[in-house]
Amino acid sequence: MSSEVQVSRGPVVIEAATPPVCSSCGKLVSPKEKGIKFLCPNCGSVTIWRCKMCRDLGVRYVCPKCGFEGP
Ligand SMILES: [Zn+2]
Ligand SMILES: [Zn+2]
Repeated sequence: MSSEVQVSRGPVVIEAATPPVCSSCGKLVSPKEKGIKFLCPNCGSVTIWRCKMCRDLGVRYVCPKCGFEGP
């Protein structure tokens, strides 16, 4: 879980600098689909994104930093 706090002042700025890309298939994770993000369970410093399709299929992901593989 992220500890980021959204400050509700003015228009909400979506983090556009780093678009969410599925760590398994490399596709953009649309806000409409139920993609998930989580920190790498091994090194905890890389945010892993997974699209709904890869979740359903159980495609493996690899942490780009520490090389951890997980389902
Ligand atoms: Zn995917
Ligand atoms: Zn890692």
